Amino acid sequence: MTNLLIEYQCSQCGAPAVLKETDRLFRCDYCRVKSYLMQKDCFRYVLPDTAPENKELVFFPYWRFKGMLFSCLPDKTESKFADISRQAVSSEHFPASLGLRSQALKLRFISPETGGCFLKPALPVREAMHIVGRHFSTSSQGPVLHQSFIGETFSLIYAPFYIADNQPSGSRHLFDAVLNKPLSSSLPDDFDISLFQVGHPEWRIRLIPTLCPNCGWDLDGERNAVALACRNCDSVWEPGGDRFRKVTFAHIPKKGDNVVCMPFWRIRADVSEIELDSYADMVRVANLPRIVKRDAKFYFWTPAFKIMPRIFLTLSRNITLIQPRQELAEELPNARLWPVTLAVTEAFESLKITLASFLKPRKRLLTLLRDIKITPKEFLLIYVPFTEEHHEFVQPEFQQAVHKNVLAMSENL
Ligand SMILES: [Zn+2]
Ligand SMILES: [Zn+2]
Repeated sequence: MTNLLIEYQCSQCGAPAVLKETDRLFRCDYCRVKSYLMQKDCFRYVLPDTAPENKELVFFPYWRFKGMLFSCLPDKTESKFADISRQAVSSEHFPASLGLRSQALKLRFISPETGGCFLKPALPVREAMHIVGRHFSTSSQGPVLHQSFIGETFSLIYAPFYIADNQPSGSRHLFDAVLNKPLSSSLPDDFDISLFQVGHPEWRIRLIPTLCPNCGWDLDGERNAVALACRNCDSVWEPGGDRFRKVTFAHIPKKGDNVVCMPFWRIRADVSEIELDSYADMVRVANLPRIVKRDAKFYFWTPAFKIMPRIFLTLSRNITLIQPRQELAEELPNARLWPVTLAVTEAFESLKITLASFLKPRKRLLTLLRDIKITPKEFLLIYVPFTEEHHEFVQPEFQQAVHKNVLAMSENL
């Protein structure tokens, strides 16, 4: 899994910095100012060019995706990493994908000052993702009953080109302005860049200070966190559009040393086609050999941190089937907090995959899964105490463990 690098200049002091694609919280090494990169729809980057000065650059847009792709098949759920780029305007003259170029070079955020001719993306991101999904499921067996992308970062990357005569033949070519080399096939006589929709993206990265909107204290978080905590007024905040929004949260109390609190989303949702509103419903749907003594509301649980797809699904399924009932405390735990790196909207996307993992008998999925609609109603961020051991974090009551090297490998997701 690659993590693209972005060249950036601190907006406070002008010092150069290199960001990772997954970075959200930026701490300047020079002036120490901390700010948060707000993502209104998606980040937009340009690849650096090495074109001769007199060439007018044409920027061609590519959608880039990185995330987990789950495909639900009749007999199993396949999970994969997707880490690819696709044309955002379809054209046979430009390369189909970015290839490896974006991994070898440092990108820059686009800004209104970035000069050149920009082609407008014509393929909506949903459609592009659909194509990606189909591409990934060609190797699978059986019909794909449901597919979701989870935890994806999608961004627009503009690659620079220019048009020039290729010597010695003199034929007109598109030149890759990153490599300053012509593309292999020459352009037809009727190729006209003005036939594309062009227009400057007029986009600029937005950073806001990481100050608690409630008390003004400095918010805490890791560089890839999508929720930040205020230890002063006991609150948690997530970016929303152009400001921080309050997140309702709680924790399961636990005393002891070496406690690390891992964040989970607990989600109430309406499920169509089947009865799944209570614990007793879940026991029936999952066909569990359990006697329901005291009924309670049913909740979906998913990790609120990015982790390898297989482990993500295992944790979601196991903790959902446990339906934790521990007493909750509505304050931040006095322990190390594992960063929230998976937004609740991404967790919503996973609910159908979780349901498919426990619905019995599995052949019911064939008739049901496509029609089932899951509509989230309310959610809570819950910090679950794990005990740090040598190689793993362990949750003894739930009998779950997360390997540290799995977490380390998941850092670039
Ligand atoms: Zn600075
Ligand atoms: Zn505060």
